[in-house]
Amino acid sequence: MIFEGQDLVRLPRHALKAVRRNMQMVFQDPFTSLDPRWPVSRIVEEPLIAYAAGSRKERRDRVASLLDLVGLDPARYGGRHPHELSGGQSQRVAVARALALEPKLIICDEPVSSLDVLVQAQVLNLFERLRSELGLSYLFIAHDLALVKQVSDRVAVMYLGKLCEVGPVREIYRQPMHPYTLALLASIPDPDPAHKRRDTATVISGELPSPLDPPSGCRFRTRCPRAQERCAAEAPELRADGDGHLVACHFPLAGAWQPTTADAAQEAAGS
Ligand code: SF4
Repeated sequence: MIFEGQDLVRLPRHALKAVRRNMQMVFQDPFTSLDPRWPVSRIVEEPLIAYAAGSRKERRDRVASLLDLVGLDPARYGGRHPHELSGGQSQRVAVARALALEPKLIICDEPVSSLDVLVQAQVLNLFERLRSELGLSYLFIAHDLALVKQVSDRVAVMYLGKLCEVGPVREIYRQPMHPYTLALLASIPDPDPAHKRRDTATVISGELPSPLDPPSGCRFRTRCPRAQERCAAEAPELRADGDGHLVACHFPLAGAWQPTTADAAQEAAGS
């Protein structure tokens, strides 16, 4: 794991603590990621205390400005406990806590999957606003492909713990090269029932193998419609194929994808 040129796995403990303040995390479940015994102000102040950042008064002022930043009135919400908050409010508190130390990177692990759709949109808008206001980078982990497309500049597709494909979001969605990525994209429902995709080799069958005992060679080979002998014998390396697009496949796809009607409309609109 390399962060700003430093190998995090090899860093000594004290150096790792110094680097950690630049990387914060927003977890999937806002209810279980907040300490139920603490009021909101204490939860948001915790990283500042852990890093002895500022005097008590400065920390309190910072907590108030952080709550303000995420759209929560400090006077109204600072004294509340997590059980007195809605899902969206809890996730805003988690975001405020993640921002407390002014990190450069925030790892968001399915941060909106447990929220209802309306609250999802509010929290995503908050992420977007903070990204442009504070110059943040997000590592956004999600299963919802429409969401991934909306929030990402660059996408990495994983199967059984291995990267299959990495590239700019437009490249991945317009021209996927790995059969698994293609199958994922093909599983997005198309709102137009009359629209038929040219490619029929997008459906994958079978069960997900155990990550503890993955298949030999390519991990996707037991479900891949393009698998050949070589796929069982040799694990494909992630290779660059121009324009920062990388794929780990012995027989990558080329030109097999026809976007959905909604995708095509978006492309035509230049979005
Ligand atoms: S390496 Fe073989 S099995 Fe793996 S994705 Fe490519 S074609 Fe399919």
